[in-house]
Amino acid sequence: MEGLPAYIQFNREADEEIWSLVKRLAPDKVAILVDENTRKFCLPLLSEYYDQVIEVKSGEQNKNLSTCSQIWDQMTEAGLSRKSLLINLGGGVIGDMGGFVASTYKRGIRFINVPTTLLSQVDASIGGKLGIDYKGLKNHIGVFKDPDAVILSDVFLKTLNERQLRSGYAEVIKHGFIWDKNYLKDIRNRSFSNEEDWDLLLVRSVEIKGEIVEEDPLEKGLRKILNFGHTMGHAVETYHLENGKDMLHGEAVAVGMIMELCLSHQLGWMEAAQVRDLSTWLFGIYGYVQSVPDADSLIKLMIHDKKNDAGQINFSLLRAVGSCQYDVQVNRQQIENAVAYYHGLDVK
Ligand code: NAD
Repeated sequence: MEGLPAYIQFNREADEEIWSLVKRLAPDKVAILVDENTRKFCLPLLSEYYDQVIEVKSGEQNKNLSTCSQIWDQMTEAGLSRKSLLINLGGGVIGDMGGFVASTYKRGIRFINVPTTLLSQVDASIGGKLGIDYKGLKNHIGVFKDPDAVILSDVFLKTLNERQLRSGYAEVIKHGFIWDKNYLKDIRNRSFSNEEDWDLLLVRSVEIKGEIVEEDPLEKGLRKILNFGHTMGHAVETYHLENGKDMLHGEAVAVGMIMELCLSHQLGWMEAAQVRDLSTWLFGIYGYVQSVPDADSLIKLMIHDKKNDAGQINFSLLRAVGSCQYDVQVNRQQIENAVAYYHGLDVK
């Protein structure tokens, strides 16, 4: 597949693929990192070619230094050396944290990522960003490093609940928005269903992310377009979590994409009719979220975004479907207008 990093493999028969990779890499020991859910649902799909299972608690709240210490301790107790291999079997939390732990253990050992959620398959597993949250700041500590391999297989998606799938689907939609209007058309023609045969979407989405990160691996420029929907989306996510309301990452990104479409409209880049059409479609999948922060709260929440320079909030916004511009700065009034416009779209 053109544009796809060579270390990424699609294979329905994930087990066989991992096993042959392990043989090829010939590590002295193999440890596999799981959380309680992937231990229950995904580990049984693999043969026992590992020496050690390391289990951590699931969830973003455990993607931190204390869990890393537990993993490093278990790796040490299991006698893992520089020649050992870590297999990260899980969603984005396991992939980001397991990759970080492997990249720093004894100055770096080899690791394979086997993403098991839709979000981690189409997004987190590609592009080499690894890390953990620190003192409430998301992905604050980490490194860029590609795994030795990423094995993508839809066999793992069958045990994901519909809400998790829908959350990952937001990143699939984002790929159409920022890069390929025909892909967005295909996505719209399919309509979301948890019965989806994910193969085609997985391949095209991974291809798109692969093309973008290959051109700009360290996010100096183009890679920033992958943040479309995320500047406002992260703010909405934090706002919900801080107020004790449950919200998944992709659900927040969906709201963020709608709000940033409204911002594109404020800049005169997108027509009102098109914003309404796209928003109506997204509301149909994700529902209308009334409780979004007002402009002042949004700005406070967005100011910590890693894309910012010198206190300026940098957005990645659509000029048109399939064409995204990064490092866009807007003023407070435009943000306020975009929030008001978003509420005006309320299409119950
Ligand atoms: P997650 O890893 O928390 O997984 C979601 C839930 O699904 C967890 O409870 C997990 O135990 C469970 N689960 C995983 N696989 C399962 C399966 N096959 N069947 C049943 N349950 C399963 O969340 P996520 O949405 O996969 O990833 C979110 C994380 O990814 C965030 O930490 C985010 O920062 C990170 N991320 C990283 C990048 C990157 O470029 N590195 C990009 C996007 C997101």
